[in-house]
Amino acid sequence: MVKRNRLNDGKVVLVAGGAGFVGSHLCSVLVDRGNRVICLDSYLTGSPVNVNALQSNPYFTMVEQDVCDEIQIDGPIDQIYNLACPASPKDYQADPIHTMLTSVTGTGNLLRAAARHGATFLQASTSEIYGDPEEHPQQEDYWGHVNCTGPRACYDEGKRAAEALCFDSLRAGNVDARVARIFNTYGPHMRPNDGRIVSNFVVQALSNEPLTVYGSGEQTRSFCYVTDLVEGLIRLMNCGPNPGGAVNLGNPGEFTVNELAELVLSKIKTASSIVYAPLPQDDPSRRRPDISRAKALLGWEPRVPLTDGLSHTIRWFQAALPQRRPAPRRNRRGQQPQTSVSSQPV
Ligand code: NAD
Ligand code: UDP
Repeated sequence: MVKRNRLNDGKVVLVAGGAGFVGSHLCSVLVDRGNRVICLDSYLTGSPVNVNALQSNPYFTMVEQDVCDEIQIDGPIDQIYNLACPASPKDYQADPIHTMLTSVTGTGNLLRAAARHGATFLQASTSEIYGDPEEHPQQEDYWGHVNCTGPRACYDEGKRAAEALCFDSLRAGNVDARVARIFNTYGPHMRPNDGRIVSNFVVQALSNEPLTVYGSGEQTRSFCYVTDLVEGLIRLMNCGPNPGGAVNLGNPGEFTVNELAELVLSKIKTASSIVYAPLPQDDPSRRRPDISRAKALLGWEPRVPLTDGLSHTIRWFQAALPQRRPAPRRNRRGQQPQTSVSSQPV
């Protein structure tokens, strides 16, 4: 029996992809709030280590499974979060066909499970469905600008198809499905070698290796700290009535890649410099969420500024990485970033 108190939601919640970066934080918060959590994951890019703190909790269960296989869970399920999908370009391009099937077959399987159990469903979609956007900032009614044959298509088009499955299931009255379009999120539990910008730059700076800026570094992203995202996901799952459309979740603070590199260098005592490498194909030139819908529907907006979130993330990587070599000298390039940063090294 699940206990209930003021903070407890007391629901049975399935988190597919719960052993990944975002999913592990979501599982922790859901258990803290008194839910019984079933974490379903194939450990493709996640790890049981991310949920170590929960392993002995009687309200937490792990199921090792690929979502591309039929999902059979005994007992009631009240809510299903679908976060199962590699999210880093390096990861999702490693096996692009499996990435596409994870989004399409996997989301289909989870939606069928939601229909059987009468569970509310939340799909972790992505700002990538806007592709290289011609509208800026991106509002939810923008249809996007995606190259459907390029190397990112397995992810972008897979997520677009998954959204279509969700809205078709909603229109058919089968599932109360909700869709969050997540913008670049960072924080503890990112894999040091996942290839994403924040993990790359922090690990490179901590290792006294050059920071690899792709292209001119003038492309932009908007970075959301993971605790803010998790709060937005939970509010979207629990809001009523169903919003009827996708909801952007992200931090509207927009930074160039060069600014992020300088910010990381300002926070870490390091000998790292910046090196420039070719821009990957179809790399979006800019990205910033319009979060008016999330504010109005969920009363949600991010609380953690990039400078604070980066400090937390750096401290986590410092503890998680093997012993660091000391920085022999400071060798920085370029101007101070145009951001309200604390320049205190962590
Ligand atoms: P992640 O790679 O750390 O986590 C994904 C998790 O899903 C991992 O634990 C992985 O093992 C699991 N998984 C992958 N394929 C699976 C499969 N076929 N069957 C079962 N489990 C599988 O990524 P993340 O950053 O935590 O992203 C979580 C979700 O949020 C993803 O769906 C991603 O598309 C979405 N998202 C994340 C971001 C971001 O910036 N982090 C941005 C947009 C969207
Ligand atoms: N990027 C970079 N150096 C890195 C990793 C990424 O310059 O070591 C750039 C990348 O080209 C993109 C941005 O940072 O313009 C964000 O990349 P990431 O892979 O984190 O996310 P996504 O491209 O999916 O937004």
